[in-house]
Amino acid sequence: MIADASAVPDRIVVVGAGIAGVSAVQELRSRGHAGKIVLVDGGEHPYDRPPLSKAYLLGETGFEAIRLVPDTWFDDNDVELRARRQAVRLRTSEGAVELDDGTVLAADAVLLTTGGIARRLPVTGGDLPGVHVLRTVEDAEALRAALVPGARAVVVGGGLIGAEVASTALALGCEVTLVEPALPPLVPAVGEEIAGLLHEQHTAGGIRLVGDTVADVTRDGGAGRLSVGTRSGEVLPADVVVVGVGLTVPGGLAADAGLETADGILVDRRHRTSHPAVFAAGDNARVRQADGTARRREHWQAAQQDGRAAAAGLLGQAPPTAAPDWFWSDRHGVHVEAVGDMRGSRRVLRGTIGSLPLTVLNLDAAGRVLGAAAVDDTRAIAVARRLIQSGATPEPALLADLSVDPRRWLRG
Ligand SMILES: Cc1cc2nc3c(=O)[nH]c(=O)nc-3n(C[C@H](O)[C@H](O)[C@H](O)COP(=O)(O)OP(=O)(O)OC[C@H]3O[C@@H](n4cnc5c(N)ncnc54)[C@H](O)[C@@H]3O)c2cc1C
Repeated sequence: MIADASAVPDRIVVVGAGIAGVSAVQELRSRGHAGKIVLVDGGEHPYDRPPLSKAYLLGETGFEAIRLVPDTWFDDNDVELRARRQAVRLRTSEGAVELDDGTVLAADAVLLTTGGIARRLPVTGGDLPGVHVLRTVEDAEALRAALVPGARAVVVGGGLIGAEVASTALALGCEVTLVEPALPPLVPAVGEEIAGLLHEQHTAGGIRLVGDTVADVTRDGGAGRLSVGTRSGEVLPADVVVVGVGLTVPGGLAADAGLETADGILVDRRHRTSHPAVFAAGDNARVRQADGTARRREHWQAAQQDGRAAAAGLLGQAPPTAAPDWFWSDRHGVHVEAVGDMRGSRRVLRGTIGSLPLTVLNLDAAGRVLGAAAVDDTRAIAVARRLIQSGATPEPALLADLSVDPRRWLRG
């Protein structure tokens, strides 16, 4: 592999065809990279993950609709897809990636966009049959088969994925219990006002909330029924248990190759790892920040942006301008979005708690918008994103007025 950080690699192997890997390959081609690109993935065809807890789990959409690119895209863009193949070793000294069928792919540079795996419950019975996680399309299919009308579903974890699964299970006719110790969840991500509102939607929809952690899961051998025991001693009977307690990034290829890792692969702002010819992006990467910290983001847009930035890094070009963090979530028939930083105490509410749409803007002491979270107000979030980037100080009265089109905020 190329040890000279300023050289542009000709042969690039991208391991992992999620949104980060596919976006990186698209960006490489759109930036004019004409060399060989091989995209390796353990799955059949690159697909999108957000629908797995929403329309795909509901059965409203099929695999065709969640493909990231059509089949023809690879030939059209001269990209070799190695599907159903695992990369098992990075041979950095000789410049190659070894696959599970023994193939050795020559590479001047490698991009690792290997994502992560769903964390399992670290308790007795956490891996029993009937205890599901949700990360892959196979997970979604297994879960959908179990979420039959009348099934008692215990969802563990009230974060983004847990809340969406609880809402989908309810829509599928299940009797749903949600176990989550931090009530309401998501306060750091959306602020306490929106977190509270979202939380109440669970109970309004008929979900039972249990503010506790799970101690164990047991299975009645004969009938196959599960019981979820909580730390405070409650026993929750279940036909299906779904665990949504976050993501882990296994050391895997990166650690075996001696790359620096710490709860993710450590990379610089150009997504270069501790090896000059190996890059990483997406859920698997922790990007070093100017203040010396390193952070891993676990959202779709971040993975897309980071994939593009890594492509620029591979080519020795300046990365696209970074946008503030943004994510969305759909549950109980509402659309939630948040952008920027919601930690702080100077708030402006556009709308009133208890009615929709509602947007909460988080300002700093000088009146600059740091973050915004909204339920059913996509336009407010799109404009807030621009305000965050520009550092503007819009009039709070204008921000609060529901009758004002958010685009007017840009004019002050
Ligand atoms: C159910 C669900 C719902 C979500 N909903 C939202 C949402 O509403 N909004 C939002 O912002 N974000 C959402 N997310 C998060 C978002 O989908 C992820 O942040 C994003 O998919 C990360 O992309 P990635 O490319 O980094 O990793 P991944 O999508 O995990 O892709 C990594 C790929 O690498 C492959 N791979 C790993 N190791 C190897 C190997 N050794 N060899 C070959 N291939 C390998 C894997 O098979 C996988 O295909 C959701 C995630 C899930 C699971």
